[in-house]
Amino acid sequence: MDDAAVERVARNEAVFRQANERLRRRVPEAHALEEPIPFLCECGDERCTTAVPVALDVYERVRADATRFLVAAGHREPSYERLVEATPDYEIVEKIGRAAEIAVGYVPRAL
Ligand SMILES: [Zn+2]
Repeated sequence: MDDAAVERVARNEAVFRQANERLRRRVPEAHALEEPIPFLCECGDERCTTAVPVALDVYERVRADATRFLVAAGHREPSYERLVEATPDYEIVEKIGRAAEIAVGYVPRAL
């Protein structure tokens, strides 16, 4: 995959991540921590509309590192994503190389 393609994919993922951030902000205070929230798959496929229901603490764990993304099981792109955590329902992936640099530049929340 060349740099331009990696960049395009990374920008798609940033859009999904921003949508998830908006969703996360709408979660009421009283929401039970273990109750899954239907976050969007943050994979590089712009047509992907898979919901990835995870508990808020899982999402927060992903978001704590700007290079990490939440994707549906099997949606990882091995050429620029390293597997961090796999479950039957979702995977946490970490960007590598140019994809990681772009991801770090697209942090939607204050550090
Ligand atoms: Zn996906």
